Amino acid sequence: MGEELLKSVADKTVEHEYYIPIPDNYKLGRTKYVIIFGTVMSGLGKGIFSSSLAKLMQFKGFTIAPIKFDGYLNIDAGTLNPYRHGEVFVLDDGTECDMDLGTYERFLDIDLTKDNYLTGGKIFNSILGREREGKYLGRDVQFIPHVTGEIKLFLRNLAMKRNADFVFVEVGGTVGDIENNYFIEAMRELAYEEGRDNVVFVALTYVLEPGFLGEQKSKAAQLGIRSLMGAGIQPHIIACRARNPVSQRVREKISVFSNVPVDKVISVHDAESIYEIPALLKAAGTDEHVLDIVKLRDKANREKEKQLWKEWQSLTSKLRQSRKEITIGITGKYTGLRDSYASILNALEHAGLHAGTKVNVKWIETTDIDAGKVKPEQALKGVKGIIVPGGFGKRGAEGKIACIKYAREKNIPFLGLCYGLQLAAIEFARNVVGLKDANSTEIEPNTKIPIIDTLPEQKRLEGLGGNMRLGAQEVVIKKGTLAYKLYGDKVKRRFRHRYEVNPKYIEQLEKKRFIFSGKHPKYPIMQIAELKGHKFFLSSQFHPELSSRPMKPEPMFLGFVKACLK
Ligand code: GLN
Repeated sequence: MGEELLKSVADKTVEHEYYIPIPDNYKLGRTKYVIIFGTVMSGLGKGIFSSSLAKLMQFKGFTIAPIKFDGYLNIDAGTLNPYRHGEVFVLDDGTECDMDLGTYERFLDIDLTKDNYLTGGKIFNSILGREREGKYLGRDVQFIPHVTGEIKLFLRNLAMKRNADFVFVEVGGTVGDIENNYFIEAMRELAYEEGRDNVVFVALTYVLEPGFLGEQKSKAAQLGIRSLMGAGIQPHIIACRARNPVSQRVREKISVFSNVPVDKVISVHDAESIYEIPALLKAAGTDEHVLDIVKLRDKANREKEKQLWKEWQSLTSKLRQSRKEITIGITGKYTGLRDSYASILNALEHAGLHAGTKVNVKWIETTDIDAGKVKPEQALKGVKGIIVPGGFGKRGAEGKIACIKYAREKNIPFLGLCYGLQLAAIEFARNVVGLKDANSTEIEPNTKIPIIDTLPEQKRLEGLGGNMRLGAQEVVIKKGTLAYKLYGDKVKRRFRHRYEVNPKYIEQLEKKRFIFSGKHPKYPIMQIAELKGHKFFLSSQFHPELSSRPMKPEPMFLGFVKACLK
């Protein structure tokens, strides 16, 4: 059907009700689409599920392009509060996006771009722009077919640009939300146009297990899947998130209500680590089910698959080996929410796997230290190292500075990430250089000694219009430093900041052995700072945690974890 439809649409001489823009040279069936919906509730780990399944397809030699749809009206995630929505992830091209893109990058070991992320705000923004340009030929611009048409175009463009065998689409939110219903509708249309063998629908759902009953209940899952079916989407596979393995009985029940054979109703119960999920899906045959649906069984590279699977298993088997354990401290505000520091926790897990240790985290609420209620030595009791992560604003900053002072004086490994570098410079200026009033203009706008400041002239030099410096930049590293030991002479890393070290004070700091070992190749932007003679005292203006991958731990994190073990 799709073929005929697209042919008729291509004929621009006839007026019709369709709006199906297709990229030039697009071939139906060249790319297969796997679309993942969430039912019952959000927070089920659609991104982890989607990444894990995509990983299994990547092992078979297929090229994967993941994409996430977010229904909200923000154009990107830059303005979202990480304590509400999870951390803001940053891509090489400076796109500020949902943390799930970090999951895709880590699992698939590929670098993503703005083409892998679509929000409601972004699609409407472009549609309204096009409308003003008169691109809709006198038509009333409608959700169907125009909004859905642009969404499908975005997907097909991604497929073309990456020459993808599989596009994995994660539809954010939960089926039934107003925010994502036009995305769901677009996917229904996509399946019709692309044809039966080219689109796989997966419903991720949740099986309740209330403590007072002590048994699994499938009703919520049934209702969730029913509303997906009501939107015209018949899932091929149902993945049941649950605390414990989902029983045969419950899987059968879900199967009866959903027209999905019971072998394709799979249990995705809680695992020790997210990196165990691919094995769980493989054991349930999910990857082979996908191949069957899209009729690609004979295209899989079984040799490659065997070898890559072995490598993956040898990595994940380390998760189960009994290992040493260490505890490190992470300072932060609202430290309750693990999602707001997802990349840091991942980077620590990767570094721990390669250093042969499990890394436990003690969260340190620095506002208590700020207020003098708690002393740093109390707060940091039992930790082998300290991380001061990225952050914004005044709250808790003095407490963080007190923790950095403690780490510096007591020779405790310290890793500063972005704000962590800035606060380390302030601490050093105050307590070692003797500049008592040193501060950041972010914390104290009228400070007499602005060690950290916004430097608009540098921003202009770099030609960045926005007020944050975003995305990947090169860092040139000084020989003979700790950074050089870890990275060699240069590295590319991702930034997201507005303030930086004021070049006026560099000499004074360096004289006392606070060394700027990584700089911008052209401009006086300090990108790595370290302390000479300390066991491990390293900080970066960039966010190294965004570049860590399970098979390739990030050198700063690996160095830090190893130093903590010593
Ligand atoms: N608030 C600091 C700045 O804007 C640090 C930002 C961050 O840690 N990402 O420069």
